[in-house]
Amino acid sequence: MHMFDIIVVGGNLSGLSAAISAANKNLKVALIERHEKPFLPAHCGEAISHVTADFLKIEKRKCPKNEIREIIINISKLKKYTLNLSENKIYIIDRNYLENNLLKEAKEKKTNIFLGRRMIKFNPPNEIIMDNNEKIYGKILIDASGISCIIGKQLGINTKLKPKDIGVCIQSRIYSKFNPKKMYMWWGEPYAPFGYAWLFPINENYANIGLGIIGGQNLILEDLLKKYIKTMINEKYKIIHTFRSCEPMAKPLENIVINNIMFVGDSARLVDPASGAGIHNAVFSGTLAGLISSKYINGEIKSLDLYQKLMTQKIKKINKTYKNKSKLTTTKQYNKAFNRLFTSINIINKVIPDFYQNQITKLLYKDINKVEQLRHKNY
Ligand SMILES: Cc1cc2nc3c(=O)[nH]c(=O)nc-3n(C[C@H](O)[C@H](O)[C@H](O)COP(=O)(O)OP(=O)(O)OC[C@H]3O[C@@H](n4cnc5c(N)ncnc54)[C@H](O)[C@@H]3O)c2cc1C
Repeated sequence: MHMFDIIVVGGNLSGLSAAISAANKNLKVALIERHEKPFLPAHCGEAISHVTADFLKIEKRKCPKNEIREIIINISKLKKYTLNLSENKIYIIDRNYLENNLLKEAKEKKTNIFLGRRMIKFNPPNEIIMDNNEKIYGKILIDASGISCIIGKQLGINTKLKPKDIGVCIQSRIYSKFNPKKMYMWWGEPYAPFGYAWLFPINENYANIGLGIIGGQNLILEDLLKKYIKTMINEKYKIIHTFRSCEPMAKPLENIVINNIMFVGDSARLVDPASGAGIHNAVFSGTLAGLISSKYINGEIKSLDLYQKLMTQKIKKINKTYKNKSKLTTTKQYNKAFNRLFTSINIINKVIPDFYQNQITKLLYKDINKVEQLRHKNY
């Protein structure tokens, strides 16, 4: 019988973060990922803050990155804002490079990696069956399977998302001429009703251009994207690839620890329901769950519930954002709310430069500090 201490299902950002932080010379860790290689193209706009970039050691890994110095925001056709950023606040990174690099690190740390293997069945409390019928067993299981929340679903918890709680996205990688320092966001119609469209430059020749809207709207995403690209690019351009993808824009799972199972990243629904940003929370929750599970197996802590406890504040905040966003049931309310938000950011930032960005930085550092504290002390 193949018994592991920890099995992680899903080998993207949250799963790789969990496997790497759980790795410990005394533990047997396994990671199952249905793709042979990290997903290419990465289903992501690839924008992250400098705090998350530092935590991920982007510099040391030599991960390609582009620094943004200006965000141009349109609220439908009502208003346009320009937010100037001081140095090193937001980057557009190469997620595929990063995931390959994290995978290499997980291998170096002796994680047993099952690539190209899909988990098809979970028999509580420990048995995982893969698509080649191989069975493996884990004392602790970490569900990092993204929106599918595959272990949760098979456990019988309610993982079904209402259409309005799903971000339905489309994105193209475009070759043309771009100002690499400027990123653009367009909230609301005509391109992204109940959502936003984006242009995130990778360098002077490539950009991720996409949009995400809430589900159930009966709109043709390809047509909306075509219109947005035409508005944003005056030069000749070439589409390198296009993909469609979904992400949870929902309330987090009520219980992110159930017996010997922990839920991380999109599987736990830890995406910001207003912006769709999920990288930071995927990395943070994955790292925390990996650390806590290894400390538990090593007998340093008595319960996995510490994960739930350390995530309480974060879950509260996502719930609050979800509640506020759910009140916006007409496009007028939606535009008005985001207009109000960006007007106040703009005014405050004029009085105290970088005020808003610094508030976000503080919040993100709180997460990093939790991980660092846990690394260095027993609870
Ligand atoms: C279009 C788009 C743009 C985005 N842009 C941004 C952005 O710019 N910034 C930001 O912060 N966030 C962004 N996000 C959100 C961000 O990409 C996600 O929150 C983040 O990738 C979540 O990581 P994860 O590892 O939890 O889940 P995922 O990335 O979904 O990974 C889940 C993994 O599990 C694997 N898997 C699933 N089922 C099984 C199974 N049965 N067996 C084995 N493996 C399985 C999948 O193959 C996948 O590799 C964007 C999302 C979308 C859709």
